[in-house]
Amino acid sequence: MATYQAPTREIGFVLNDVLGVGRLAKDIPAFAEATPDMLLGLVDEAAKLIEGQIAPTNHVGDAQGCKIKDGNVTVPEGFAQAYKMYSEAGWMSLCNTTEYDGQGLPYTLAKVVEEMLASANVAFSLYPGLTIGCFEAIYANATDQIKQTYLPKLSTGQWSGTMCITESHAGSDVGAAKTKATPNGDGSYSIEGGKIFITSGEHTMTENIIHFVLARLPDSPPGVRGLSTFVVPKFIPKADGTPGERNKLHAANIEHKMGINGSCTCVMQFDGAQGWMVGERDTGIQNMFVMMNLARILVGFQGLGQCELATQNAIRYAIDRKQGKAFNGKPEIIEHPDVRRMLLQMKATTEGARVLGYETAMYVDLSHHHPDAAVREVAQDWVELNTPLVKAFCTDSAVELGSLAIQVYGGHGFITEHGVEQIARDSKILCLYEGTNGIQAMDLVRRKLMMHNGRLPQRFFAAVRKELNADAPLGWITRPLGRAVDELESATQFLIESFKTSPDTAGFAAVDYQRAFCLTYLGWNWLRMVKAAASHPDEGFRKAKHATAEFFIGRMLPQVHALLGTVRAPTESLVELDAANF
Ligand SMILES: Cc1cc2nc3c(=O)[nH]c(=O)nc-3n(C[C@H](O)[C@H](O)[C@H](O)COP(=O)(O)OP(=O)(O)OC[C@H]3O[C@@H](n4cnc5c(N)ncnc54)[C@H](O)[C@@H]3O)c2cc1C
Repeated sequence: MATYQAPTREIGFVLNDVLGVGRLAKDIPAFAEATPDMLLGLVDEAAKLIEGQIAPTNHVGDAQGCKIKDGNVTVPEGFAQAYKMYSEAGWMSLCNTTEYDGQGLPYTLAKVVEEMLASANVAFSLYPGLTIGCFEAIYANATDQIKQTYLPKLSTGQWSGTMCITESHAGSDVGAAKTKATPNGDGSYSIEGGKIFITSGEHTMTENIIHFVLARLPDSPPGVRGLSTFVVPKFIPKADGTPGERNKLHAANIEHKMGINGSCTCVMQFDGAQGWMVGERDTGIQNMFVMMNLARILVGFQGLGQCELATQNAIRYAIDRKQGKAFNGKPEIIEHPDVRRMLLQMKATTEGARVLGYETAMYVDLSHHHPDAAVREVAQDWVELNTPLVKAFCTDSAVELGSLAIQVYGGHGFITEHGVEQIARDSKILCLYEGTNGIQAMDLVRRKLMMHNGRLPQRFFAAVRKELNADAPLGWITRPLGRAVDELESATQFLIESFKTSPDTAGFAAVDYQRAFCLTYLGWNWLRMVKAAASHPDEGFRKAKHATAEFFIGRMLPQVHALLGTVRAPTESLVELDAANF
């Protein structure tokens, strides 16, 4: 059975020594009390609950899955109790505004906790995750009255939330949505239509479920410009704020899935349900994107959590398992170079991705709360650039590392009771929802590279180059990293230019380019980690960081050149190939 120990030392190292999280308390008055000691104290506390109470629900959740009978959905054993403990202890409201029963702590802390939660049980983590997403969407755009009615209860987790976007014919193409919203004449709307794949759409863990629904008014234009957003509660709140009459909506079915079986994925039917508009009419897509950008970062953290779970279980297994003798005569499989190769790839990816994720989260805090507008602007540029990188890299890596964990376990990895095959199954969805990773690559190439005349990638190139000094003792990192940055910059220019005349070239190149960007980013992270580890008191820790960096720089960073080599490859015949001839 896969087990989980929260990597609190590593978390502290990245936050404190690599990224200087103390900056949040120093620079942002609202976070004056969120010192590194306080943040890490809270991480330790969350870790205890997550290891002790949530991790044990992971396997049972996968084995039992969710069930539906007469429209009522049952979640796996232990989930309701875990949800109650997690929400009542205040872990869901960490970074929500104090105005609505939140604790006003940094977003960075909330993401660290969500990483741990996603390691312990990623399917369970979706119940709090979607609720936080629903809170963010309402908070950004709703009237005070709607905020007062819903936010305090979503913040504490007393009520849970959903995001109702997808329809059978409207997946990546959100603008094809057909769900109708007809004005009732009293300020409310009547919502009619079917949504599919709705996470946490129906269950009884909370006394109410708040659906955030994308729908179209009768006289709105077709496409994304004609969509509006609505808050549609399962039970319509009474004047005193308690749940009242049952609304006209129900779960018509639940999906049977490859993984995240403990998360109920519902087909939702709205049969004239009463809803209230959030934000202006026809601005639904912008409202959704407020939430979706943060949700994409959250999904990246779910991937990071699964990377960590795969890595630590594979290491533990390889230390114990004896098979044959390595060249040094030792029998444990961790002594075989090929097993070390897999474990180091897992460590290099997970630890490097953690710096990418935490840095992005810190930029979210700076972009929202820093008193200096110029700092907020720079931070926002980083958030824009990093969002598709975090989402795609951490989730693709989770699938890759889930598969590598199985490989490390050998045939035992394929056997359910060891629990690592669950990681590979649970992780795949992360590459698909909140915009597939192909869509993330399009976002990077078509939007993020172009924004503000290419200012976003330029910030990245400048930041990395600032730390490159080829003559320094770290030349073994800085020289190859410098070459990767140069080549990435040249490919970036090529894509920006070619997109204007040949968007198909950019379309073919986007995923490889995105991965090359992420590997270069991780090269920078490894440079920073090696520098920070130099003064670490634990010699074993220093050695591990050095060896893992050497692995990354020697064996993973060179992939950047192969990946970028594909960017300029011809596409004419690929585009012209008739679908029938595939
Ligand atoms: C378990 C689960 C939970 C989910 N939870 C929710 C939820 O809570 N709320 C919700 O609203 N939705 C949810 N979804 C839906 C999810 O967000 C969609 O499945 C996803 O957006 C992809 O849409 P699709 O499945 O229709 O795939 P399609 O859009 O049909 O995509 C198929 C393929 O075509 C590619 N593609 C499509 N358009 C483009 C393009 N423009 N450029 C390049 N490539 C393209 C995609 O990358 C993909 O490879 C969930 C899905 C699942 C499976």
